[in-house]
Amino acid sequence: MLCEEIDMKLYIIANRLPVKVAGTNGKFVFSRSEGGLATGLDSLQTSYEKHWIGWPGICTNEEKDQQEINEKLQEMNFHPVFLSEKQIENYYEGYSNSTIWPLCHYFYAYTLYKNCFWQSYQQVNRLFCEEICRLIRPGDKVWIQDYQLMLLPGMLRKIYPELSIGYFHHIPFPSYELFRILPERAEILKGLLGADFIAFHTHDYMRHFISAVERVLHLDFKLDEVQINNRMVRVEALPMGINYESYHQASENKEVHQAIERTRKLFGEHKLILSVDRLDYSKGILHRLRGFATFLEHHAEYHGKVTLAMVIVPSRDHVGSYAELKTKIDEEIGSINGRYSTMNWTPVCYFYHGFSLEELTAMYYVADIALVTPLRDGMNLVAKEYVATKCDNPGVLILSEMAGAAVELTDAIQINPNDTEQIENAICQALEMPEEEQKQRLQRMQNILSIQTVNKWAADFVNELNATCMKNDMLRKKRIVAASIAQIKLKYNHAKQRLILLDYDGTLTALKPRPEDAQPTPELISILQ
Ligand code: UDP
Repeated sequence: MLCEEIDMKLYIIANRLPVKVAGTNGKFVFSRSEGGLATGLDSLQTSYEKHWIGWPGICTNEEKDQQEINEKLQEMNFHPVFLSEKQIENYYEGYSNSTIWPLCHYFYAYTLYKNCFWQSYQQVNRLFCEEICRLIRPGDKVWIQDYQLMLLPGMLRKIYPELSIGYFHHIPFPSYELFRILPERAEILKGLLGADFIAFHTHDYMRHFISAVERVLHLDFKLDEVQINNRMVRVEALPMGINYESYHQASENKEVHQAIERTRKLFGEHKLILSVDRLDYSKGILHRLRGFATFLEHHAEYHGKVTLAMVIVPSRDHVGSYAELKTKIDEEIGSINGRYSTMNWTPVCYFYHGFSLEELTAMYYVADIALVTPLRDGMNLVAKEYVATKCDNPGVLILSEMAGAAVELTDAIQINPNDTEQIENAICQALEMPEEEQKQRLQRMQNILSIQTVNKWAADFVNELNATCMKNDMLRKKRIVAASIAQIKLKYNHAKQRLILLDYDGTLTALKPRPEDAQPTPELISILQ
């Protein structure tokens, strides 16, 4: 490690800081939220000191409160960007979740376009930009996360032409035919292209991005690179993984073990089908329920023997389309249970709340089948977590081919979620699959997940970012030489006085000299003369 690297920082920029702040009037409670991203980045081995910049999840206008929150978060290397309720409404719930999210998930009809959304999105991206500018020093790196901050790379690039900027897009990037619908398509693409390195979960999302850039901005990619003003931007597919070992060894944990016992008691001898999602129309929850209803309708032999445990974590319920979806799900579950329930069997066991990690992993461990049917999903970590949690016990993953995870998890039973019959048949196939086959499929998927972990994903991203930035450094240096040598000569010849400043190590000599070579060599003296 070079001495200069010691103080250098990697700033991870995300809409939300990995912390929950609760409370009012100077009394605040802080708890770290251990999402996949935070865990992966925590374990990232780098000589750079890691810092986060993001919204702390609480709206307060009180300067005193902000100062107190700020001081506490600084201790964890977290730097808050405070947003007002109006900004949360227009930038987060508005442009991010009612314009970009539905568009990127192919829910064209749900996409809302409002000028106040776009104005606020630009304003908040600028706020993030200001906070970064306040903090960064030469040599620091910036890694921006996700669709809430797509203008930020471009804003930073204007101020810092040489800053190392990476961007990861955690949701699907739609095909050009859909992306072109967005009124601000050119601004968004230009914003993203401010980064040196841009990565997506899958090769398809990457291809869609390239095609959007080529057609909207008329720039030409050469394979995975595009040149913009003597600077290269590189794109790559890097699927995000999970903390494999922590899931795979979860059943050895005492609390998880107790939760496994409780879960087994709760579901008795029934075959357990598990579904876990945030409340979101992209998750195909209604399609899944219809598939399960059709299965029950056509397979009376399984009545009283199979239970669907449906976990839905409340999310974005201020957005209209989410509230409507919740009502429809409640109705569908009510209709299935009303029709098929008996005194000692309820076909759908419905939980509208989140579970602790221990309880969730216990459900993964116990479930005979995981039914994951998104209509679109950037990746879907639940599918990976289910597979990883299985240890020596069987289990079958039914996975939508529309999830990014389907690229790696080819040993799942893959289905098209729009086809109710396929869901029904997949449930039957999974229920009847011999244990040996279940274990073999799990093993093959586990082999992949245990290598492509979230740690590796983060390390790969940073390595790729570094490589691209080094290339850009070299391009810059070459440019100086090519463009200015003639001019320097001209000015030198016409100058009345000349001061020549020469740096020795690294400029006149390529390698660091060993102490015994510290004297200039005859060759160097001749160059100087
Ligand atoms: N999750 C959780 N508690 C719950 C249900 C889910 O912590 O009660 C986590 C789950 O472990 C997974 C994440 O929420 O890591 C969901 O990620 P996924 O990629 O499946 O979907 P997203 O919500 O990001 O669209």
